[in-house]
Amino acid sequence: MFRIFPHSFSSMINKDLTNFTAMQLSTLLQKFNEPETLKMAKLSRQMRAEGKDITDLSLGEPDFDTPDHIKDAAKKAIDDNFSHYTPVAGFLDLRQAVCHKFKRDNGLDYRPEQVMVSTGAKQCIANTVLSIVDQGDEVIIPTPYWVTYSEIVRLAGGKVRLVKTSMENGFKITAQELENAITPATRLFMFSSPCNPTGAVYTKDELEALKNVLMNHPHVMIMSDEIYEYINFTGTHTSIASFPELKERVVVINGLSKGFAMTGWRIGFMAGPEELIRACDKIQGQFTSGTNAVAQRAALAALTGDLSSVNLMLSEFEKRKDRVMELIEGIPDMHCAPPPGAFYVFPNISGYFGRKTPKGELIADSDSLCMYLLNEAHVTVVTGSAFGEPDCIRISFANSLANIEKGFERIRKALLQLN
Ligand code: PMP
Repeated sequence: MFRIFPHSFSSMINKDLTNFTAMQLSTLLQKFNEPETLKMAKLSRQMRAEGKDITDLSLGEPDFDTPDHIKDAAKKAIDDNFSHYTPVAGFLDLRQAVCHKFKRDNGLDYRPEQVMVSTGAKQCIANTVLSIVDQGDEVIIPTPYWVTYSEIVRLAGGKVRLVKTSMENGFKITAQELENAITPATRLFMFSSPCNPTGAVYTKDELEALKNVLMNHPHVMIMSDEIYEYINFTGTHTSIASFPELKERVVVINGLSKGFAMTGWRIGFMAGPEELIRACDKIQGQFTSGTNAVAQRAALAALTGDLSSVNLMLSEFEKRKDRVMELIEGIPDMHCAPPPGAFYVFPNISGYFGRKTPKGELIADSDSLCMYLLNEAHVTVVTGSAFGEPDCIRISFANSLANIEKGFERIRKALLQLN
């Protein structure tokens, strides 16, 4: 069913062998960009190192500590000498725990052979795309989308087909828009719910409408990124894999980074058809092998333990979201609806385009607005163009209320100075 290793990397590189220097970098590198989110984080770290007081509202990670029972499991794992290579797809008991999680939270039945553990959800996404997407294949991505999706597709030689969604539709692709975008060359439809950067959460009815479209196009695989599953203010998370007719074509991506405040532990997991998981095992076996042994033991504790710390973090994020919405109300020409999930707001700020800074510089677009906010207000946010929506910026509320208040006050003052 799947085409594994559709093309060799060497065939993607077409360079003149008679004329290159030792430090000439590969053609592959030119196919994709450094993530804008990480670029902003790097810039803010640099400015901090120069002694500047930067408020960072750009980051996609919880500011909470990893819960104690998870840390304890890792400490025990070190003492128990979990210091060896691990199976490429992850320890069997961890994969069983992942199956337990899918059953408990999503009502989904998977066997350990249908599950794989990787170095972050990011690697699961890379595994999936590299296993499915062939040179020239089309991949549908609704915009705004998480930066890595398009870049990893380009890296694989695929063609990104962006489908613009609107703020009025809650930034969600409709069944009709999906239908219109599918062609015989479409291999994959990738989306996230809750969504980074918009926080959009697809309801069961909306997913069912998408499922009905996808049922008419059996050649299309679906990658459902559910990494923000636990940061959902609507109270209900539905996975598109829960439609039995579609399940064999869905790859669910999830991980511990967001819900358990474990970004640095680098544990992601995926579930899907066994054949695809075997393909991902082959890819991961060459790139990185099995992920960190100690982190896997910690992940086992997270997935089998109780979720009270996850729920505490959720209620904290909800308070911050409510406060952020009040703060946005106080800023003219910044508009967005409350996000139903994740920890970002994604307001439209295009009303500021065409205005000038006190130094006479033009705010031409969201990129220049973000640089102005960084240089003048010492606040980092991420340009919407990185997510395929240049009228917006992404502001993270994965930060303390005090920092959020401080950051928004700086943003408000800086924006008021534009004329
Ligand atoms: N998917 C989405 C939508 C994300 O926002 C992120 C992290 N920012 C990831 C996947 C990757 O998460 P990780 O690799 O930390 O598990």
